[in-house]
Amino acid sequence: MTAPKKILLLPGDGIGPEVTAVLRKVMDWFQQTGRTTFDITEGLIGGASYDAHGTPLTADTIAAAGKADAVILACVGGPKWEKVPFAVRPEAGLLGIRKEMGLFANLRPALVFDVLANASTLKPEIVAGLDIMIVRELLGGVYFGEPRGIETLPNGERRGFNTQSYTTSEIIRVARVAFELARKRGKKVHSVEKANVMESGILWKEEVTKLHAAEYKDIELLHMYADNCAMQLARNPKQFDVIVTDNLFGDVLSDLASMMTGSLGMLPSASLGAKEVSGRQAALYEPIHGSAPDIAGKGVANPLALILSYAMMLRYSFNMAAAADLLEKAVQNVLRAGVRTADIVEKGQTPVSTAVMGDAVVKELSRLAP
Ligand code: NAD
Repeated sequence: MTAPKKILLLPGDGIGPEVTAVLRKVMDWFQQTGRTTFDITEGLIGGASYDAHGTPLTADTIAAAGKADAVILACVGGPKWEKVPFAVRPEAGLLGIRKEMGLFANLRPALVFDVLANASTLKPEIVAGLDIMIVRELLGGVYFGEPRGIETLPNGERRGFNTQSYTTSEIIRVARVAFELARKRGKKVHSVEKANVMESGILWKEEVTKLHAAEYKDIELLHMYADNCAMQLARNPKQFDVIVTDNLFGDVLSDLASMMTGSLGMLPSASLGAKEVSGRQAALYEPIHGSAPDIAGKGVANPLALILSYAMMLRYSFNMAAAADLLEKAVQNVLRAGVRTADIVEKGQTPVSTAVMGDAVVKELSRLAP
């Protein structure tokens, strides 16, 4: 018998523990119906870890993440820790765990449930049914490139500078993630750079093209400049399936795409590391929202981004597409029935609590798959 897969849950701060409590109920449903047999443990990260141990990321949490087959993190941060030194702020725990786990590919889906199309700032017909995946390179590029700094020039003027740099292997490993994802989705990849004005962009385009020709001819590959991509995302986002791009462009484009869906409380994400020979791949799943200090402790946060992060985990870490589909369908049906937390409520609907939303999803799971 193979050992059960290990899941590490990190509730973090603010609304984190509230939405994690709801996720636990969803996870329990999958365990109790025999669909999963995970070995689930919880750990501390962020401000909660700082309060207990004086650091936002302990060696114990790093070790547990290293042993886990997948990590799920809710969110970190809050005003309580605003005055603590920068290096031990809750957010440093988040950056630290991503680095420790070697997570170089950030997957940000922008998925618009038809029933929420009205919540977007774009016209409903432009976004209804939208399902795109942005793959952002996470450990290279201008955010990490050397040399970097602020210097004073001989004439007394100051100069700030950063270096955009990518190596062949950094480009290939993230492009591979995008092609593999496209194979499980719409079989189309847009590779986004600015090869018209940047050498790193020329290399990016050449390497992606070579990898495509060698291993992924079944996938349609298109190249697009980053500025045009921003424009096309706002004009006709449904033309995209998977977008792969560097750290800086990915940061901006994924925020743009995510806002088409209306609410932060709905959006999951995943960060992946390299695939080992055994097939194991480090993976961290988390909602894109923060700890929402303005509503923390009130029991009104939307737990769906975390629940949908769990669906991503089932799909991408464990190849459990049927279970992921089932969970996404349950969420869709609950929304269709008008069950809404305050952030996605529409005229005439009464907002429900975090717990009621979670219970509705679990009830719908039982109805769909008795
Ligand atoms: P935020 O995402 O926490 O909140 C922005 C707004 O969205 C708030 O009005 C909040 O109430 C609302 N919101 C967020 N998630 C929601 C949910 N699930 N349901 C309903 N409403 C929701 O961003 P912020 O206010 O800029 O940051 C607050 C703290 O979170 C800061 O300390 C920041 O550093 C941290 N942060 C953490 C992460 C992370 O853990 N990945 C990401 C972003 C920000």
